Formats: sequence, C-alpha cells, structure tokens
Amino acid sequence: MTYKIQFPTKAIIAGRSVNAASGKTFETLNPANGKVLAKIVRCEKADVDIAVNAARNAFDVGPWSKMSPAERKVIMQRFATLVEAHSDELAELEALEAGKPITDCIQIDLPETVSSIRWHAEATDKIYDKLSPSGSGVVSMIVREPIGVVAAILPWNFPLMMAAWKLGPILAEGNTVILKPAEQTSMSTIRLAQLATEAGIPDGVLNVLPGFGEEVGRALGEHMDIDCVGFTGSTETGRMFLRYSADSNLKRVLLECGGKNPLVVMPDAEELDVVADHAANSIFWNMGENCSSNSRLLIHESLKEKFVELLLERVADWVVGDPLDAASRLGPLIEESHMNKVLKYIDQAKKEGAKLICGGKQIMTDSGGFFVEPTIFDNVSPKMTISKEEIFGPVLAIITFKSAEEGIALANDTKYGLTASIFSASNKTAHNAARQIRAGTVSVNCYAEGDASTPFGGFGLSGFGGRDKSLLAHDQYCELKTIWMDMS
Ligand code: NAD
Repeated sequence: MTYKIQFPTKAIIAGRSVNAASGKTFETLNPANGKVLAKIVRCEKADVDIAVNAARNAFDVGPWSKMSPAERKVIMQRFATLVEAHSDELAELEALEAGKPITDCIQIDLPETVSSIRWHAEATDKIYDKLSPSGSGVVSMIVREPIGVVAAILPWNFPLMMAAWKLGPILAEGNTVILKPAEQTSMSTIRLAQLATEAGIPDGVLNVLPGFGEEVGRALGEHMDIDCVGFTGSTETGRMFLRYSADSNLKRVLLECGGKNPLVVMPDAEELDVVADHAANSIFWNMGENCSSNSRLLIHESLKEKFVELLLERVADWVVGDPLDAASRLGPLIEESHMNKVLKYIDQAKKEGAKLICGGKQIMTDSGGFFVEPTIFDNVSPKMTISKEEIFGPVLAIITFKSAEEGIALANDTKYGLTASIFSASNKTAHNAARQIRAGTVSVNCYAEGDASTPFGGFGLSGFGGRDKSLLAHDQYCELKTIWMDMS
C-alpha cells in the first residue's frame, strides 16, 4: 500500500535527522491491518549518550535556556501555529500508527496538542519569582531556574497530546528535552520535532529518540546527566523509573500512570439519556485505551435496569471500522498482544460470573487488524478482576450500590486514583462525593478531564511527584534557588 504522506523515521538529535549509531531499525505496524508501515531508527544507549550530550550542550551554552521568557514565548507560539498548519498530516500519522479514528485525531488530539503548546507558551512570561518576608536587612529572592535536561517518556494512546502536555512547560521554562515516543507510535513525534526546528527552536533543545523501552527508556532513566524524567505510561513501568533514579543520580521523577476510574450515578441523577451518552463516551472513546476512561460504572440499584437499556441503545452509535474512515468511532487496539490481553480479561470476567450483555469478541478479522467490539458486563462484583485491573480496552463493568455512601466507598475501592465522574441532581451530594473520592480529577454531571489550565494526574498508583498541565506543571520542571543578600 502506498500513502500520500511521508513517513518520518529517523531520530532527531541536535536538529538533524539521523540513523542509530548501530544502523539498526525496527518495524512499525498499522494496527488496522497488521502490515508494516515503515522501518524506524532503533536507538540504543550509544544514541542516548549522543543525544544527552547535545541536550546538555544546548542547555549549558544556550541560547534557549538563556533567552528572555518573552523571546521563548514567540518561538513557541510559532511552533504551535506550524503544528496547527500541519494538523491534517499529523492526524493521519496518528490514525495510521495508533489506530485512532481520524475524526478524533482531527477534532480532539490535534486541537489539544496545539492549544497545549500555545497555552504554555503564553504562560512563559507571566510567571513571577518571589521575595521572601525576611526583613529590610536582606534581599532574599526565591527564584525558579530551569531544571536542565529532561527526558519525556511517552505512551502510544495519545502520542501527540502527551508530547505536548510535557513539551509545553518543559520548553517554556528554558529546559532542553529528549522525547522518547512509545515504540508503536514514533512517527508523529518525530514530525513534531521537525516542525519545532522549522519554528526556530534551536538545535539540541528538542531531540527525539525512537526505540524500545528496555533500550532507550532504560538508558534515559539511568543516565547520570539527565536532571528529570517526565513519564506517562503504565504504573509498572513508572515504578522502574523510580528505581532507575534511585540507582543513578536521583534525578527528579514525575509519573502519570494508569487508572480504574469510576462513573458514579446517584439515585437522583437527572437526564439519564445524557448520563448514558457520557458513560458510553468515557469507556468507548479512543477504544477505551485511555487512562481516564470510566471503566467502572457504579449505579444506584433503582436506576440500573432503565440505564442499561439506554446504554445498549448508544452502543450502536459506536461504529467500529477503519480509522481512516471518518465514520469510524472505534479503530483497532494498538497491537495483537494488547488485543489478546483485553480478550483474556473478557474471558476471565465470564468465568468469574459477570454477565456479558454486549460485544465481547474480536471482529473484522479479515482485515488483519486488531478490532474488538464495544463490550459491557452487567452483574459485576467489586471483587472480580475486571473491577480491579486496568484493562485499557472498550470493556465496561456495571456494579450496583444501595446508598450514596456505598457508591463513594466503591469508587474509592481501587489502588488507583486518576479520575472519577459523579452524576447527581443535588449539588450537595455531588460536592460531598467529589470531596470524598480520592482521585486527581473529579468531573460533576459530565465526563471531562478539565482544560489546559487545570492540573491532571493521580492519587495512589496513578501517579507520583507532580501533575501535567496548568501553571503547576511549570514549577516541576524548575529548581528553586534562594539568593540571600546581606544589605545591612
Ligand atoms: P508503557 O508503560 O508500556 O510504556 C510507556 C513508555 O515507557 C513507552 O515509551 C515505553 O517504551 C517505555 N518503557 C516500557 N518499558 C520500559 C522500561 N523497562 N524502561 C524504560 N522505559 C520503558 O505504557 P503504554 O502501554 O505505552 O501506555 C499505556 C499506559 O499509559 C496505561 O497504563 C495508561 O493508563 C497510561 N497513561 C496514563 C496517562 C496519564 O496522564 N495518567 C495518559 C496516557 C496513558
């Protein structure tokens, strides 16, 4: 098959497109047909050393790290505008590599990517340092300085959006960065870096090293000359970065990890058809390959029967198909092994006694792709595996409760704590629940993740060390320095 767009396949180091030192490559597949899309440069430790050296040199010498914030702002705004101008091309790369529906890529992922870069660019020259209240005999300044060389380790489910969530505050604060895309989705990240160079971001400031986690990811995590790792991915891998840091130079580690998020429907919830829209969207959007998907539907027993009917009506709207077809709302899962993992969870749920009320199978097998039907289980108990583990697929578990207190207790019955949604006609009930649920973002009467101005991250096993988005994300890519000047 031939494609109209060009596939960027090389690493970006010091502003240049380069091969790996070893000359090795790896194949990236189209999950919609299982066929090879392109051969991508396979970086290893030797390439990590070269890229860290380039990023360190760019940081130490400047000009990026030494520019005024206002100058950096202008270049980052140009970067956002260029990304916007290349939205169609980037959207197609995402759809091809990640299997994401093209309509979502165009309407959600690209606008979010652009707005994230733009929002943090605009914040660049609007964040102030401080003077401490230490009396008139001293001038005591508390200043924020860029932390240095940052490695940003990315997942495959929202490749560009997660890159932009990291890049915004990292670049705005004058750091240099090495992006490590997930091995399934390298190309949109490489293209993003090319556009950064075109926008005037100096060589060495934004580098991209495609390759495998065990090779590139690990070498970045263990590197003695990297100051900070910003990671998004599974909790299991996140833990490794804490170990890498402990065993190397105590680099700062910020983790955004998985979730097993609840959507709680209280007995007084109004407009159940709207609630059902949100519930379906929150589990089937992005094929359920979404850290903030509400994979546990906790509903008051009095509403369950009616709600299940409404939910099943909505499943028909979630058309599974080729991600390049504008009508598709679900594409394939990212790869065969992940599809098999999701199907195994479905089998296990059946064996543990949950009632399958829709979906449950691989479909479109003739395509060679990894498509799974939107799947709903009723009569799920909180002890079952599908109530506990992050499945990362279009699989919903319905659990009933008898009182608001029990609903909140069930919402908190998880080792994660990323997001939650609560539906109630009473502000008091909703607010009390929002305060009691242990999660980084609680949306009320909607399924939402907030916007660029709100922090995103989790309690418990959902994260560590900080948050993505908002002005708070800027501080975590800075060191604090006290300058104490005796004026007496
Ligand atoms: P993953 O943990 O498998 O991979 C994430 C990144 O880590 C990839 O770049 C991978 O190459 C790298 N990696 C893998 N093994 C490594 C190792 N041994 N050493 C160093 N690096 C290694 O996660 P994934 O499957 O790409 O993404 C899905 C996960 O991401 C889900 O758990 C999801 O909930 C989470 N996620 C969280 C957020 C959030 O904001 N909290 C957002 C998106 C995804």
